[in-house]
Amino acid sequence: MDLTKNFKEHVKFYARNFVEIKEREEVSNIEHIKNDGFLVKTNNGEYKTKTILVATGSMRKKLNIPGAKEYENKGITYCASCDGPFFKDKDVVVIGGGNAGFETALQLLAYCKSVTLLSRAEFKADPVTVEKVLANPKMKAVTNASLIKIKGDNFVKSLVYKKTEPFVNSFEIKADGIFVEIGHTPATSFVDGLVEMDEFKRIKINHKNQRSSLGGIWAAGDCTDVLYHQNNIAAGDAVKALEDIYLELHKMK
Ligand SMILES: Cc1cc2nc3c(=O)[nH]c(=O)nc-3n(C[C@H](O)[C@H](O)[C@H](O)COP(=O)(O)OP(=O)(O)OC[C@H]3O[C@@H](n4cnc5c(N)ncnc54)[C@H](O)[C@@H]3O)c2cc1C
Repeated sequence: MDLTKNFKEHVKFYARNFVEIKEREEVSNIEHIKNDGFLVKTNNGEYKTKTILVATGSMRKKLNIPGAKEYENKGITYCASCDGPFFKDKDVVVIGGGNAGFETALQLLAYCKSVTLLSRAEFKADPVTVEKVLANPKMKAVTNASLIKIKGDNFVKSLVYKKTEPFVNSFEIKADGIFVEIGHTPATSFVDGLVEMDEFKRIKINHKNQRSSLGGIWAAGDCTDVLYHQNNIAAGDAVKALEDIYLELHKMK
């Protein structure tokens, strides 16, 4: 919260009256007015503009089983590069059999005593990644695993799952931490149909300048089809977009 406050004061100090910051206002729709920019509609008003930078991020998909809400931030986490070191020499579980799950497992193998990856179906990750990760003796991976519940006291302790194939069987495994990698939901519904998106509804951008497929709309951060999700990447990409918007606005004059 302090960091956010400092950012806000910093922007206000330098931009003085040129920037207006609106808080608790959600964009619901953007209308493209031919040859006359855009009309941005929110829960609190409408704004006419020549250019837009979309930086609305994405929500991580969460587990929906008993214990998932209770142990959020008490052992359930979503970022191996951020939280991995906290689980040094611990037994951890990764949920998700796609590339994100296997790459998370790969990062965790550097710190953890053991990593167990549970995938609800067959692995979807690239075979070369799967092979590399499974070659590590600290690694175990299970397909056709259906999660039942997360157990613990003040912190996560174990996870119960059911193997659905070849035979139905339940298991309880030790879990000092659970890394969830089951996908994201980008916050991009208000530009659906306006700009090109990929299959996951992330805004497709030109990675040189952050332009979307529609002139006048730029996008940066987790709502785009960028490969990596980190604060500095999102902030850096937004700066890249603003450089480009600045030049574009000067061209429009
Ligand atoms: C649990 C967790 C831990 C992480 N830890 C780290 C870390 O330690 N280091 C690191 O570098 N990265 C970390 N990350 C990744 C990092 O948080 C993201 O990559 C980064 O926040 C992306 O920035 P962004 O601006 O694109 O989106 P966000 O930070 O998600 O910001 C998007 C903003 O847009 C707002 N918004 C959404 N929809 C609308 C709308 N319709 N109208 C108006 N506003 C809207 C949201 O409320 C939010 O304020 C972590 C991620 C998670 C989930």
